Amino acid sequence: MPANRSLALVVRTVDVFETSLVVTLFTRELGKVAALAKGGRRLKSPFQGGLDLLGVSDIVLLPKASESLDLLTESAPVERFPCLRRDLAALYAGYYIAELLTDLTDYHDPHPKLFDAARITLRHLGEAGLRARRVLRFELACLREIGLMPLLDRCAHCGEPLDPEVESVAFGPATGGALCPACRPGQPHVMTTSRRTIESMRALASPGNEWREREMGGSELAAVRQTVGAVVSHVLGHRPRVWPFLGV
Ligand SMILES: [Zn+2]
Repeated sequence: MPANRSLALVVRTVDVFETSLVVTLFTRELGKVAALAKGGRRLKSPFQGGLDLLGVSDIVLLPKASESLDLLTESAPVERFPCLRRDLAALYAGYYIAELLTDLTDYHDPHPKLFDAARITLRHLGEAGLRARRVLRFELACLREIGLMPLLDRCAHCGEPLDPEVESVAFGPATGGALCPACRPGQPHVMTTSRRTIESMRALASPGNEWREREMGGSELAAVRQTVGAVVSHVLGHRPRVWPFLGV
């Protein structure tokens, strides 16, 4: 089979044999792949920094028969994110992005937009003031890409628009988003959130600049974090592993 070339973000590495690695790559063109990097741990590795966790590399992959791992034949570093080395909070946010890409996407299912979103997010994680918003924006981009973006402007059950006067909004992480008062009874795991929180989520999920300009204090960001986090946890089937370290 012919070799495949792509840009790739290294999201996981596991040591195997004496000198090799199995790397999980979120590639721009091929989606998530797992590949064997022979000699990747040697002092004079042929990959020379191209396998660093959370780095973007230009890779060449030799596809193998269905049962065995693809073979990584080249991996040249293209971009590193220095903020991840300087700032522990940025590093944990980077690990979280890697966890979402690893656990929310399927093998060989390309999402170039998500690759680009991850790269931009990683580039700017050093800006502490906007970090929480950037991570939330990335989570919402993930949910949209995999077709599980919660409905925020109408009831996820009956489709009726939400009453703009009502302050408290029912939200079903397992039901697909906001719920009107008539549909709320009987739905599983419904949480109560506010209209303001739903509007903040909408701003964070939209293009333009409202996501960075909108007034959101610490408690408001915490409410958004809890609501988006409930959806992500529902989709994953567990709480994200990096969550306790996120500090959002
Ligand atoms: Zn309804």
